Amino acid sequence: MAKQDYYDILKINKGATATEIKKAYRKKALKYHPDKNPDDKSAEEKFKQAAEAYEVLSDPDKKARYDQYGHQAFDGAGGFGGGGMNMDDIFSQFGDIFGGAFGGGGFSGFGGSRQRVVKGSNLRIRVKLTLEDIANGVEKKIKVKRKIIAPGTTYKTCSTCHGSGQVTRVTNTILGRMQTSAPCNTCGGAGQMIDKKPIGADAQGLILSEETVSIKIPAGVVDGMQLKVSGKGNSPPGNGISGDLLVAIQEEEHSTLQREGDNLHYDLYISVPDAILGISKEIDAVTGKVRIKIDAGVQSGKILRLRGKGIPSINGYGKGDLLVHVNVWTPKTLSKQQKEFFESMRDDEHFEPKPESSDKSFFEKVKDMFS
Ligand SMILES: [Zn+2]
Repeated sequence: MAKQDYYDILKINKGATATEIKKAYRKKALKYHPDKNPDDKSAEEKFKQAAEAYEVLSDPDKKARYDQYGHQAFDGAGGFGGGGMNMDDIFSQFGDIFGGAFGGGGFSGFGGSRQRVVKGSNLRIRVKLTLEDIANGVEKKIKVKRKIIAPGTTYKTCSTCHGSGQVTRVTNTILGRMQTSAPCNTCGGAGQMIDKKPIGADAQGLILSEETVSIKIPAGVVDGMQLKVSGKGNSPPGNGISGDLLVAIQEEEHSTLQREGDNLHYDLYISVPDAILGISKEIDAVTGKVRIKIDAGVQSGKILRLRGKGIPSINGYGKGDLLVHVNVWTPKTLSKQQKEFFESMRDDEHFEPKPESSDKSFFEKVKDMFS
């Protein structure tokens, strides 16, 4: 199923201001909040979709990426990410939206039917990639330091909350009995506390462990894109699942190629004699060397399009092109004889500019490129 557009989900247009986005999200979140729609799977789905849309559109950086690349800017490919947000992520973003109306208490007030799963914190790293890595896809082995349960650490059920991680308080108010729940202070919400721990482990029984994680990066990733390697973040104390390793892609600048989406641009400089007589040139493309033929009488500013020599699309549909911009290099100094020769060519009819319709102006060429 195609993913729904974030603007459609929140029913706003692209020009919506930050306040309008927030307002639209608040409306959706209140309508589909699980407390109001107990056991309604479709409401829960809509609630999650709205939260995901808000998460992206409320962040100027992510919004810009989404506006340019759509969902592919975040999904990642090759088995990473794309899993959307979990309920804990959603409730944790509520603080600034509702000013604590629902609180950040995880699944508190969630009908009590769900078991709270403790998840370790996420780790974030940056990976620098060359344009060649991006064009061909790459597997990177990266050392990460993640917290794991120290060998020898044992946990026992928290005596305060009896393992639920939550404490419930009942107070009498003029509106009647109010029941509130909050994370347990004794165990920090984990439901378990340290029984025994070895020397060297921290207060939660964890130690830092250095591990080499292998990350498969698909071809076509974009600077700023984030890939998720599930379960390679920190372990939580006691029972639970490890957080994720979030890998931010950073694209290194290339010495000769400029990236524009999936297309690449290359500035080729040729001499006046080569422009007049024609020449064959070799260019370093991202997939290896490419030989191109420059016809005799080429004009400066001509763009040669080498189809499929650009970056593969992250979606796996086709490849971009390599656009070679021809620049004729005019010498700045000449010998006496050369000067005399060109002097004598001033009035020669062969040297007289006679642009034809095929020698389009720069602006027309740019127009063609994007049409
Ligand atoms: Zn507890």
